[in-house]
Amino acid sequence: MTSSPKCQSCGMPLTADPKGGGTNADGSLSREYCSYCYVNGALVNPDMTLEEMKALVVDKLQEKGVPRFIGKFFALGLPRLKRWRKH
Ligand SMILES: [Zn+2]
Repeated sequence: MTSSPKCQSCGMPLTADPKGGGTNADGSLSREYCSYCYVNGALVNPDMTLEEMKALVVDKLQEKGVPRFIGKFFALGLPRLKRWRKH
């Protein structure tokens, strides 16, 4: 049983994305990135660092009513995502 696909940049489940995912260069739906991170085949903030993404995720979750300590726990999983893995 595999978990549902999530954005490989911010970790949001793609099922939670109102658009269902980002868009590839050909306009098709991305199965790897959400619509906040990936538009028309490119990352929205390509120069963003992992630490900046962690802070953004904690803030965004807090806006949705998620306590910061839970947001920070969630952010611990970000380094495992494709965008942040060391090559
Ligand atoms: Zn994302």
